[in-house]
Amino acid sequence: MKFPFPFRQWEAKAGAQFEVAQVGKLRRQIAPLYVLLTLSAASLAFTYRTLAPVWLTLVMPALLIAACMTRMIGWGLMGQQGEVTPAQARTALRRTTVVGAMFAVTFSAWTLALDQYGGIREHSHLAMFVAISVLGCVFCLGYHPRAASVICLIDVGTFLVHSFNRGSKVDIAIAINVALVTAVILKVLRDSFASFITLEISQRALEQKREETQNLCEENALLAQTDALTGLPNRRFFFAELERMLAADGQAFTVAVLDLDGFKPVNDGFGHALGDQLLQIIAHRLRPATDSIVAARLGGDEFGLLIKHEAPDAIRYARWICDKVKESIPLSDATVTVGCSLGLASYPEVGRTAQDLFDRADFALYYAKSHKRGGYVIFSSELAEIVRSDREIEKAFQVAELERELTVAFQPIFATNDLALVGVEALARWNSPHVGIVSPEQLISAAERAGMARRTTLTLFGKALEGAAWLPENVRLNFNLSALDVADDVTVSLILERLDMSGLRPERIVFELTENALVKDLDAARVSLERLRNTGAKLALDDFGTGFSSLSTLHRLPFDIVKVDRSFAARLHDAPGRRLIAAIRGLADALSLQCVLEGIETEEQLHEATAAGFGFVQGYHLASPGLIGDVLAALELAREAA
Ligand code: C2E
Ligand code: CA
Ligand code: CA
Repeated sequence: MKFPFPFRQWEAKAGAQFEVAQVGKLRRQIAPLYVLLTLSAASLAFTYRTLAPVWLTLVMPALLIAACMTRMIGWGLMGQQGEVTPAQARTALRRTTVVGAMFAVTFSAWTLALDQYGGIREHSHLAMFVAISVLGCVFCLGYHPRAASVICLIDVGTFLVHSFNRGSKVDIAIAINVALVTAVILKVLRDSFASFITLEISQRALEQKREETQNLCEENALLAQTDALTGLPNRRFFFAELERMLAADGQAFTVAVLDLDGFKPVNDGFGHALGDQLLQIIAHRLRPATDSIVAARLGGDEFGLLIKHEAPDAIRYARWICDKVKESIPLSDATVTVGCSLGLASYPEVGRTAQDLFDRADFALYYAKSHKRGGYVIFSSELAEIVRSDREIEKAFQVAELERELTVAFQPIFATNDLALVGVEALARWNSPHVGIVSPEQLISAAERAGMARRTTLTLFGKALEGAAWLPENVRLNFNLSALDVADDVTVSLILERLDMSGLRPERIVFELTENALVKDLDAARVSLERLRNTGAKLALDDFGTGFSSLSTLHRLPFDIVKVDRSFAARLHDAPGRRLIAAIRGLADALSLQCVLEGIETEEQLHEATAAGFGFVQGYHLASPGLIGDVLAALELAREAA
């Protein structure tokens, strides 16, 4: 192989690491070199033992052998330190060249001094000594060609000059022979050193490549487990981590599935770019500060959490997350708010495999979405039962003949001062041929899930209007509207149209809305409510006291009546309960709202409600919901009694 570059360039190219490799190789060949020099020097000294003075046959060889031994020990000690640093390697190489040159000078001087003594046979031994030590150097310093070249140059050069000076043709021929052989061997040495460097360079390049490939693989693995939009771990990572946790030490943990409430309107209304921004902000809020929680984006607006704590701590965390998500979100064009619903499933209580745990958390989420929106639900066997029946109801609803199966019950509302009938509340009833009697809440949520909320509301409203047609002119009809009804312009228009067609004066209608139906989108609700109210109909805030919003927030909406939830009627028996109810009624008074107390079940509650200043009451004690005929008969009886 041709020399590709001179030494310095090779070394520079191979870099500092190369010198470390060079010293490593050299270390193994230094001991044989000094052993060879020692034996050769001893043997030459022996040849001249009687011919030359003692300082040349004993003192000088002893000093040279001692120096050889010292160097050999020095290299041996360096070998025990293990891997040398690049700086140490560079110093060792330089030192080897300098020490080699000093040895060459000293050995040459010694041999030239000896050469003054002895005869032909001794001269031959001396020439052989020079040849052997030069060749030994070349071979043993194969990984340090610079040192080998310097030593050869000094030794062979001196020998050549000396032989020419002596003038013997045989001596000159021997010296030239040694010089030529040395030159050829040096050339071979440099060739093989060049291949050694090339091999080292390519090996290093290979290692670097391998390292790069490994880094790339790690980077790819990370990317494959990360959600590109939010930077959170993705679904794949979530399940892998869940499997890892199950395979670990069996410690209790909770799987949570989180779904945003109200994301779709933002995404559709403000555009996908802002939708993405919102998801990024939510992801940032979910990103846990502790490694005992893993948050991942499962897709769309669904996130998964692995909470490495037992149920009570997981619940605390779920509550904290719900509050955190609810905080307002500043987007570049607007500030919005969304909520979230969470389903939780605990290991090992409700499942022992990743799929079971996830399915059950998802099951709980499904329930939270339809019954506890904005909150969390923990999976339990009772919940499974409820959800199973929910699904059956949903199926029954899909095949229901609404007009025939839905009916309306009417529950009277009375004035407290004279117990006169002032209104009736229309309450939905569904008796399904497949699943039997279904509660109105389940009916409404099944209708919403089936995308038939509008048809259901209009069917019920139609039946409520039919019943109300039998009522005296001074009795109002209360009709319940859901969140979806208020959010849907078409439903509102069709309700107004039906009302108009029925001939019932709008002033006789009260639309009841729960606060939870309003808080989701207050502005959209206000528009619908104003449309309804502009006809002369009244608006009642239903189930007051069960939601989150304050009365003052709702004051911004055009209500006429507030219906205080029945749970408050049950608190009328003690003084703190009475004080609370009086405070609510005082607030309603301040806002000029009429007040109805629902759920009056005893004479005592009726008495307390009247004493607390409620103008109107409703409850089983006065009248249960029933057919319009029963309501009218009761009314007739009351009139007769009066
Ligand atoms: P709501 O609007 O608060 O209706 C009053 C509920 O309280 C009725 O239950 C009624 O039967 C019950 N109730 C009346 N007096 C008493 C009492 O003294 N004690 C007790 N414990 N309960 C009493 P119902 O009929 O099961 O209706 C439940 C809920 O379903 C209603 O609560 C209302 O939010 C909803 N709902 C009923 N009909 C409709 C409808 O046509 N449309 C919509 N969107 N929701 C409806
Ligand atoms: Ca109601
Ligand atoms: Ca109510």
